[in-house]
Amino acid sequence: MKITGIEITHHRLPLDPPFHASWDSKPRTAFDATIVRVATDEGLTGYGSGDTMTGFEGHERFFIGQDPMAIERHYRILSNIQFHYGRCWPLDLALWDLAGKITGQPVWKLLGGLSNKVAAYASSGTLRKPEELADAAEAYLGQGFKALKIRFHRGDWRADIKALEAVRARVGSRLDLMVDCNQGWRMSWDAYAPWTLKDAIPVARELERLGVYWMEEPLHRSDREGMRRLREMVDIRIAGGEMTRELYEFRDLIRDGCLDVLQPDAALVGGITGLRRVAAMAAENNLIFTPHTWTNGMGVAANCHLTAGLADAPFVEFPYDPPEWSLPRRDFMMAEPLAVDGEGMITLSDQPGMGYALDETMLAKTRVG
Ligand SMILES: [Mg+2]
Repeated sequence: MKITGIEITHHRLPLDPPFHASWDSKPRTAFDATIVRVATDEGLTGYGSGDTMTGFEGHERFFIGQDPMAIERHYRILSNIQFHYGRCWPLDLALWDLAGKITGQPVWKLLGGLSNKVAAYASSGTLRKPEELADAAEAYLGQGFKALKIRFHRGDWRADIKALEAVRARVGSRLDLMVDCNQGWRMSWDAYAPWTLKDAIPVARELERLGVYWMEEPLHRSDREGMRRLREMVDIRIAGGEMTRELYEFRDLIRDGCLDVLQPDAALVGGITGLRRVAAMAAENNLIFTPHTWTNGMGVAANCHLTAGLADAPFVEFPYDPPEWSLPRRDFMMAEPLAVDGEGMITLSDQPGMGYALDETMLAKTRVG
């Protein structure tokens, strides 16, 4: 079997009302998605999504005519493209979807078959007032979620603590709570500095007091010394690595004792092919591997296959914060949204590949390139 074509299309879903993401200083009035389709001479096609495939144009020729199952070879070419251009990992996800279709197996099984289920944690995206956030936490509980991630970005971290306290007071120990400080993240137009170690310490101590499961990105993503020292000073788990580009950086983050929880996203970092190595590194070092998933439903699904198939993650991120961040918005490109059951679990399909299908009508309606 040979790869005969790679098609990349860009889509834009208008968001009215807009989505005020806590990590973006501008309200989001549209949600973009890029779809990658890899076709073969035997009529099978693999689909992937996630990052924007910036810089991929012109590189199709390095894949066309090749065996689609030569996934490690394709991974190395994609790593070279990333070195020169953008993060073109959605192609790796499409190749895994295709590999599943070729072999007649779901991806979670190809990767190790450990499980077809993962527990989801609800990953919120907005900054609500304390009582409204407590109401939202109760609604998540009612839907079956066992864990919730809260955003810290209100300007003064003491205001963030008040919101967290309101949630803890309302739900007690019925929900595990995580906090994302997003200090490793910036939009291109942001000019403000990340927290320093001395900024992060008092926040970490408050989170410990409130029994938070992990503190995410308390410092700049490359401040390894700061993360190492913070991790030694406090008992709370330190999480990070969502956009860290190179697998060697994960080796160094582990070696230097910087993180308890490794969160690379297969749609943005290394694809499934690269991240199965990080999952193995995490297991060998008694660390948690649980991917970031804030792209779209296809990216969430790919990360779920990776995690269910070979890792022992306590939870996988499920971006969901209705009404602003709903499943019809997040998964607009999919024929069926990826859902969580009444026990807070995601069950992956036994269908060959990723088990997702595209909503071609919606994709035609939202196409911008
Ligand atoms: Mg994060």
